[in-house]
Amino acid sequence: MRIRSTRVVTGGVVRPATITVSDGVITEIGDGTADLDYGELVIMPGLVDTHVHVNEPGRTDWEGFATATVAALAGGCTTIVDMPLNSIPPTVTVASLERKREVAAPQIGCDVGFWGGFIGPTDQLVSMIEAGVCGFKAFLVDSGVDEFPLVTPDQLAAAMGVTAPRGIPVLVHAEDPAAVAQVSGNTADYRSYLESRPVHSEVSAVRMVAELTEATGARSHVLHVSSGEAAEAIGKGPSSLSGETCPHYLTLAAEEVPEGATEFKCAPPIRASREGESLWEALGLGWLSMVVSDHSPAPPELKTTGDFATAWGGISSLQLRLPITWTGARSRGFGVLELTEWLATAPARLAGLDDRKGSIAVGMDADLVVWDPDGVMEVRTDDLRHRHPLTPYEGRHLRGEVVATLLRGIVVHGEGAVTGRHGRMLSRR
Ligand SMILES: [Zn+2]
Repeated sequence: MRIRSTRVVTGGVVRPATITVSDGVITEIGDGTADLDYGELVIMPGLVDTHVHVNEPGRTDWEGFATATVAALAGGCTTIVDMPLNSIPPTVTVASLERKREVAAPQIGCDVGFWGGFIGPTDQLVSMIEAGVCGFKAFLVDSGVDEFPLVTPDQLAAAMGVTAPRGIPVLVHAEDPAAVAQVSGNTADYRSYLESRPVHSEVSAVRMVAELTEATGARSHVLHVSSGEAAEAIGKGPSSLSGETCPHYLTLAAEEVPEGATEFKCAPPIRASREGESLWEALGLGWLSMVVSDHSPAPPELKTTGDFATAWGGISSLQLRLPITWTGARSRGFGVLELTEWLATAPARLAGLDDRKGSIAVGMDADLVVWDPDGVMEVRTDDLRHRHPLTPYEGRHLRGEVVATLLRGIVVHGEGAVTGRHGRMLSRR
């Protein structure tokens, strides 16, 4: 099987190429005619999204493997790495990991890896590493669900002590609980929520993580960075510390959140537009290395209460990550190569899946997204494939249209898509 276009992202350039695929793996990148010729469309490595809350088992009515993985494919994403919470049980033991794999196996449309959770005791970490988790996630602040408690700095340091010699990353939700307040005043007013989680709460937590990273030599990673100052603290921190941001922090702005519009609620919060601009700069400087979705849906009765104090926090953009990020990136002079790094290559590396995923090269899985960088798409809830299509992007016109998605050389989305569930479970090797 051979796949071609005049704009293939490979070897750090965009060039005409024909990709030969055998048994799902890229065996040659050359020239010549193809079975599937995509003309002038861009062919990029299939996107890798390392921040997805699937919530199954236990809260499948929030989001499940069947719906999340189909939404991923529709957005050009061929690999997701599932977060260890809001499923019940959370993925904090080998048994709960096995339970998750069991329910996921028959349902997955794209490939799925798993983060383990770290909630205090270190006794499960080594066995979970051996069972193939990609790394561990921990919260420094209340996670929002009782079964996934926060950890103290001492506990985090202990976890880093276990992961450091193995090169396995620890992912941290970095907000300082001492600097986060209850939402007060008019709780339908977005400002009341924004002020309850100030920039300095994020910066102080990031500085602490940077210190522990330095002291332990761990590989660590700050999740969903929302402010320029936090991004700078990561960029100037130890080299084994990295950070991500999300489409909503780059695109949405506190000034524009309507009264009671709790579909905009997430933690840390979407901040003023100047913070969004400094996050773009941080990506340009390499202080932040990737843009991942933090896809985290909840049923409308929990999400659209109109009250920022009680509404569930989380924004669902697994399917929209490419056009949202591309729309902002191209208008700031970034190109397809940067996009590839942020959406595919760097996340694959974080999850330790870069031996198979995240780039178009001989020996890699033939996971590809074919898309039109000039195409315009309108966000309509009817087109969203995740369980709850509520989105703060409703009605927006975005640049970047996904035309086809291929998983191991099989067209799984777009014209000629082969029906069935072609996803596989991934382990870190
Ligand atoms: Zn998250």
